[in-house]
Amino acid sequence: MTLDLLAIGPHPDDLELACGGTLARVAKAGARVGLLHLTRGEAGSRGSVEERKREAECAGLALGAEVVEFSDCGDGALRTGEAEEDALIEVLRRLRPELVLGPPTPDRHPDHGRAHRLVEAACFYAGLARRGRPEWGEPHRPAAVFHYMLHDAFEPRFIVDVTESWNEKMAALACYESQLYQGSPPRGDLRPRQPETKVSSPEYWLAVEGRARHYGLLIGAEFGEPFASRLPLAVSDPLSLLPGGLR
Ligand SMILES: [Zn+2]
Repeated sequence: MTLDLLAIGPHPDDLELACGGTLARVAKAGARVGLLHLTRGEAGSRGSVEERKREAECAGLALGAEVVEFSDCGDGALRTGEAEEDALIEVLRRLRPELVLGPPTPDRHPDHGRAHRLVEAACFYAGLARRGRPEWGEPHRPAAVFHYMLHDAFEPRFIVDVTESWNEKMAALACYESQLYQGSPPRGDLRPRQPETKVSSPEYWLAVEGRARHYGLLIGAEFGEPFASRLPLAVSDPLSLLPGGLR
């Protein structure tokens, strides 16, 4: 199994919130997409590890992903040592993605910044012939690592129009019943759960939709997801960069 795109997220639900529309869009277009969650969300205020695993698998299915995997880097104290790099290198050599979407840095949750450094390091080291074990497969370095937006806003390098895949993103978020507000949208389980957290509030949902509408507006689309890239982007056809509805 080789993938076109592997999205790597610190905690279950980070990926779906940040770039679920993008993942669903490229999967619908025929690309092979995978999700790797670096922790099992064991330090979260709500939901058990088993519950969050089921939710993440449900969300991956909703986005059209072919692979949903978990690593064990430690929620709430995300480790970035050689062992965690090795675990990630093994995944990268096995799944061989051309593109990796990883977390930004810095960000409000320290795990996110740590995960950023871990992903950057592993994507580079995975291409070194003398790093890792032969049984992990041939060295492989993804052609690019782009960074999605989590809590902190940044000036995006590009924005993906996710209007046509917004429903799939909503379906993925509706899987996270233990974590996220389930009003309309995503849907109806409004039973009070303890304790209330920032991401379980109706206001958080409004912020998720508002951010997508804001970045969509900038490119003339209804919904958009912003990304950063450390390196400049190579473009073969400048006409392909024209925003849809802006004149
Ligand atoms: Zn997170």
